[in-house]
Amino acid sequence: MKLGFRDYGPNEEWEADVCVIGAGAGGAATACALAEAGLNVIVLEAGSHWEPSEFKQDSAWAYRNLYEGRGTRTAVGNCVLPVPGGRGVGGSTLINSAICFRTPDVILDQWVSEYGCTRLTKEAMSPRLDRVWKTIGVSVNPVAFQKNNNLIFKKGADALGLPGDWLPRSAPGCIGCGTCQTGCPTGGKSSVDRSFLPIAIATGHARIHANCRVQGVETSGGRVVSVGGQLIDPSDLKPKGSFTVKARAFVSCAGPVGTPRFLLSTGLASDVVVGQNLFIHPTSGQMGRFEEEIKPWRGVTQGYCVDRWDEGYLLQVYSLSPDQMFTGMPYSLGKSRLEAVRDFKHMGLAGPLVHDEDSVGKVTLSGLVYFLGDQDRKRLLAGIRETCRVFFAAGALEVYTGIVGSKPIQRVEDIDDAVRDDIPARDLYLYASHPMSTCQMGGDSATSAVDPDGRVWGWDNLFVADASVFPTSLGVNPQVSTMAIGLTIGDAVAEHLGG
Ligand SMILES: Cc1cc2nc3c(=O)[nH]c(=O)nc-3n(C[C@H](O)[C@H](O)[C@H](O)COP(=O)(O)OP(=O)(O)OC[C@H]3O[C@@H](n4cnc5c(N)ncnc54)[C@H](O)[C@@H]3O)c2cc1C
Repeated sequence: MKLGFRDYGPNEEWEADVCVIGAGAGGAATACALAEAGLNVIVLEAGSHWEPSEFKQDSAWAYRNLYEGRGTRTAVGNCVLPVPGGRGVGGSTLINSAICFRTPDVILDQWVSEYGCTRLTKEAMSPRLDRVWKTIGVSVNPVAFQKNNNLIFKKGADALGLPGDWLPRSAPGCIGCGTCQTGCPTGGKSSVDRSFLPIAIATGHARIHANCRVQGVETSGGRVVSVGGQLIDPSDLKPKGSFTVKARAFVSCAGPVGTPRFLLSTGLASDVVVGQNLFIHPTSGQMGRFEEEIKPWRGVTQGYCVDRWDEGYLLQVYSLSPDQMFTGMPYSLGKSRLEAVRDFKHMGLAGPLVHDEDSVGKVTLSGLVYFLGDQDRKRLLAGIRETCRVFFAAGALEVYTGIVGSKPIQRVEDIDDAVRDDIPARDLYLYASHPMSTCQMGGDSATSAVDPDGRVWGWDNLFVADASVFPTSLGVNPQVSTMAIGLTIGDAVAEHLGG
């Protein structure tokens, strides 16, 4: 059942076997596993339910209605990074680019052997990853929908003989309109509100309560008794009423920023471990200017990738709408912004996504902190150089690097001088949409936030099941891993409750 603000009275009291907080990738998969185990589940989500026809291809509208903090969430340390996240039934899958990777085997092996995550073995995860793949309809979109932004990068990668390929995506009905990040207007993307949650609802055991922001808890004797919070009116985003949910178990799936903040603000955990260890996959966008028209806002949003996993990064095509480019793009363009506006339709866009290893970050109640490590910075710069080479191999006239104070590079011979290894983190224009690891799973209560079942250390019936439990950075786009872990922890919670 789907419920929203209009269905509520001023002070609501609900009861369930399990209360799931957050209806994103982790929350939806967790709710599905629990409902299929026959447990009655209430999913509480701060944002609204959406239908594809309601999405507007307008960034200002989307930031207000579909993004945490109206799209202004930013990490600051030795660099500055926007860290967007979704808000609404579907969470970040409402606004993501639908790229899908299975959890790499080497990462699962590390999580089991070094962190004691006994439920995350390759054998246990494989059928769950298969299920996620099938449920969200992962496939490669037809070449006809990829359009020039992806095709031009593929052309350059092929010319250099790089290991590139089309990206598998959870958008089986994609028509290449390039507007994933303002909500899929055709319903072609299998965000979790259109995949896992309908399956959960169809069991007859799950109710999705939108417009409910969780803020407080009541506890007794090492157990959480209830959570409570505000009913949010979507017309002005103001609180208008309150709710309480009593349940036998609670699962926080409020995301890698929302979950640590929930645990810290309610006093359920201390900041010794919770909120620490923020990884984000820092990315940097480059733009190649071509003679022909590219129109980088058209075609599959992110359709092509060069796999440099062994060197710690992936090169992925990305798209930007003209309004995002003109209002948000911070490039020092090396010429007047007016010329850049005129040239935008000739730009191809791509850049590296780095598997962060020596960077250090954290989520606190007041903000996000991220210090880009020296090795990660060098991997980023290597990825920027390679992106530039791909653009020139595809015939670019010049390439913009996203480095403060830089001028567009005119010749392939100038790349190494323009993108030197000693460029400091503060001079890189960065972006990151994959926060993770802020409530690490592990076998040791001194160094992890949740145990191998996803249960918060020190609490009998409180669990976490979202991207915050990854023990390390993943190195690939995280939605599939998050859903598979949601299914795993959902099963663990059901076992605890005898479901
Ligand atoms: C712009 C963008 C593009 C991306 N592209 C890709 C991609 O192509 N492929 C990929 O694999 N990954 C991508 N990601 C990342 C991926 O979507 C996330 O890693 C994944 O959705 C994380 O799942 P989660 O359950 O941890 O959190 P989320 O999916 O973010 O869900 C958290 C939910 O909790 C809700 N919430 C938070 N606090 C509260 C509260 N107090 N009360 C009630 N509800 C609350 C939020 O509103 C939100 O709906 C992208 C992300 C973004 C932002």
